[in-house]
Amino acid sequence: MSKRDYYEILEISKSATAEEIKKAYRKQALKHHPDKNPGDKVAEEKFKEAAEAYEVLSDPQKKARYDQFGHAGVGGAGGFGGGGMNMEDIFSHFGDIFGGHFGGGFGQQRGPRRMKGSDLRIRVKLNLEEMMNGTSKKVKVKRFKQAKGVTFKTCPTCGGSGYQTKVTNTFLGQMQTTVACGSCQGIGKIADHIPAGANNQGLTKVEETVEIKIPAGVREGIQLQVSGKGNDAPFDGIPGDLLVVIDEEVHNELKRDGNNLHYDLYVSIPEAVLGVSKDIPTVNNKVRIKVDKGTQSGKVLRLKGQGLPSLNGYGNGDLFVHINVWTPDKLSKEQEAFFEKMMNDENFNPHPGKDEKSFFDKVKEMFS
Ligand SMILES: [Zn+2]
Repeated sequence: MSKRDYYEILEISKSATAEEIKKAYRKQALKHHPDKNPGDKVAEEKFKEAAEAYEVLSDPQKKARYDQFGHAGVGGAGGFGGGGMNMEDIFSHFGDIFGGHFGGGFGQQRGPRRMKGSDLRIRVKLNLEEMMNGTSKKVKVKRFKQAKGVTFKTCPTCGGSGYQTKVTNTFLGQMQTTVACGSCQGIGKIADHIPAGANNQGLTKVEETVEIKIPAGVREGIQLQVSGKGNDAPFDGIPGDLLVVIDEEVHNELKRDGNNLHYDLYVSIPEAVLGVSKDIPTVNNKVRIKVDKGTQSGKVLRLKGQGLPSLNGYGNGDLFVHINVWTPDKLSKEQEAFFEKMMNDENFNPHPGKDEKSFFDKVKEMFS
């Protein structure tokens, strides 16, 4: 099943404000809430789907990436799509949104807190071919992982709830307050056994190989997200994400501008005068083009669809071939005599007409 658009899920427009996004999420979450739809799997999926949409759209950075690159920008590298958020994550992240409707926190019982591991960031260098076709890269990542043999036990202070309730008598009557448990910081668990080599949270640093799926159409500076491959969180918490920043290797011949490519083609004066066929390198191959008889320097040929694909799947960019006529800087006596003879020849006299577009017209045409 392909992923639905986040705006569609929350039934909002792309221009919705942060407040509108929050309201829309609250509406969807309450509608599909498990307490209202017990045992209804479809409702549960919708509930999760809305949480995922809200998780992205409520975060300005993630929202910007999603607006520009769609699902690929926020976890298409193998993240969310696979596992998705579980119910526990949703309640611990967004529980406050339901406040009022469902008692204090979420539902009746407020669960213990789960810790979140920190994100890791790496850079991956890609050439044009890899960016054009998409690829998969294996990278070594040093991350904190829960050590083998680590065991936890229920926090004796709070009995695993993560909360302590304090009752105080005041002249207004009994006041009851709930605070995070001081012994376990609200997690409900404490370390029971920590093996040698692990830190006091039961984590050890390991080097792992992570395979990153890179979609076609990425470019310099794009950040992909691999969920759960950042640092593990202590006490079985939620692992952080691995953020992958794309570095672009500069191509020898093709210059990139967004999804378009540019290539400088040099032809000799005789070639420009008589016409010629030339091979033009493309990202994956090459194409043969015809330079017409009488071609002017500065002419731009557009090879449709030979640029890079867009991440959103809205088709490919183009390859622009810029024709430069090479003027010789060394001539034999005979050649010099020939050009001298042509000096006042009518045919050699420039006579730019309507067909000769100005530089600005060409630029305009290129982007139309
Ligand atoms: Zn505790």
